[in-house]
Amino acid sequence: MKLENLKDLSDTVSFSQAVTKGLGKHQGLYFPTDIPKVDNIEAVLQMPFVERSIFLLQQLIGDELGEGVLDDIVQSAFNFSAPVTQVSDNIFTLELFHGPTLAFKDFGGRFMAQCLSRIAKNKPVTILTATSGDTGAAVAHAFHGIQNIDVVILFPKGKISPLQEKLFSTLGDNIHTVAVEGDFDSCQALVKKAFDDPEVRDDLHLNSANSINISRLLAQVCYYFEAVSQLSAKQREALVVSVPSGNFGNLTAGLIAKAMGLPVKRFIAATNSNDTVPRFLKTGKWDPKTTVATISNAMDVSQPNNWPRIEALIEKGYIDKDIVHGEAVDEQYTQMAMRQLAQAGYTSEPHAAVAYRVLSHSLEQGETGLFLGTAHPAKFRETVENVLGQPISLPRELAAVVGEDSLSVDLSASYDDLKAHMQQLLKDKK
Ligand SMILES: *Cc1c(COP(=O)(O)O)cnc(C)c1O
Repeated sequence: MKLENLKDLSDTVSFSQAVTKGLGKHQGLYFPTDIPKVDNIEAVLQMPFVERSIFLLQQLIGDELGEGVLDDIVQSAFNFSAPVTQVSDNIFTLELFHGPTLAFKDFGGRFMAQCLSRIAKNKPVTILTATSGDTGAAVAHAFHGIQNIDVVILFPKGKISPLQEKLFSTLGDNIHTVAVEGDFDSCQALVKKAFDDPEVRDDLHLNSANSINISRLLAQVCYYFEAVSQLSAKQREALVVSVPSGNFGNLTAGLIAKAMGLPVKRFIAATNSNDTVPRFLKTGKWDPKTTVATISNAMDVSQPNNWPRIEALIEKGYIDKDIVHGEAVDEQYTQMAMRQLAQAGYTSEPHAAVAYRVLSHSLEQGETGLFLGTAHPAKFRETVENVLGQPISLPRELAAVVGEDSLSVDLSASYDDLKAHMQQLLKDKK
């Protein structure tokens, strides 16, 4: 597999290099120089999930990891299901929250951890990542206990749900968590600065596990195929997929699946009030505003990192610009959508509800709708209970961490503080 840096097309790398580096020169994102078309989609859709995923990733990555390695990676990473559930006549949801940390980020996080530990072999690596909530947990669990890999997770202090925080800040060992005085964008800015600082980048062998890492996106391509495979031929004819979006990794993966030939009529980029992309799609102006806090906090992103990849897909002609629509949903309508879903017998959480809201208002005659269920409702227990006015029970994974103490340290949003903290971690290790 060959990838190019979208900010410097002469910077081309292999998949292994892109996974190890995360970001290219000038903070450029890596993107495949070529996206393969899958022949005989029908036959591919009939394969079982893991087998199909190995096949798809082989098409994308090729054989550079060596005989059988990709098979092993996928088998250990994708050890949970992604069921499609019907919520109304013509609307379905793809439940992506049956992994260990109850959010779709388990797919990308686990796949990346498996790739990286095999590519890095025994060399030391420090993963530095910013999380708006769920990445932290997925990445922490995926890397916990892997030798020679340390993980530093930055999150906006007080801006993620207490249960979300407990899922990653209680692990310890090689997992270090930092509560930053700021919002997600300032965490993301700190990560970018660290990657631009040779002292930190080279001495600590930095790597990022954000959705800027291409391995995460490629893993996510697989569940779009899985969703379509669970629908009938009729339902596949005019399928509309609504993606609750923050950093736009999930939508990018869906569009790559489409570029590979997956039958999807159009996609919806559904956001909360942090609506940079929906406004851009309407006005053509990229005009990020200050990030605002919402109940769908994993989407509180006003400068989505992955957007250049979506532009690349359009510019290179892999997808048509007209198949992506954007719409923002405010807090009131998000809550209303959660209540509507509950009335239909389906307990959901704010992120999926945003996608459902836009989808249900956008579907036309003859179309089938699918929205992505990106997190388990119990992960947002306080909000879900408040909005629905009824208690929900905690699944095993969450019940286990509720009573444990957070091991996070507090830091300001200044880069110098972070740098000192990371250098100290390295010293302590030696
Ligand atoms: C991360 C996240 C999103 C946003 O996904 P992106 O790939 O960043 O657009 C949506 N919902 C939940 C629950 C998330 O954790």
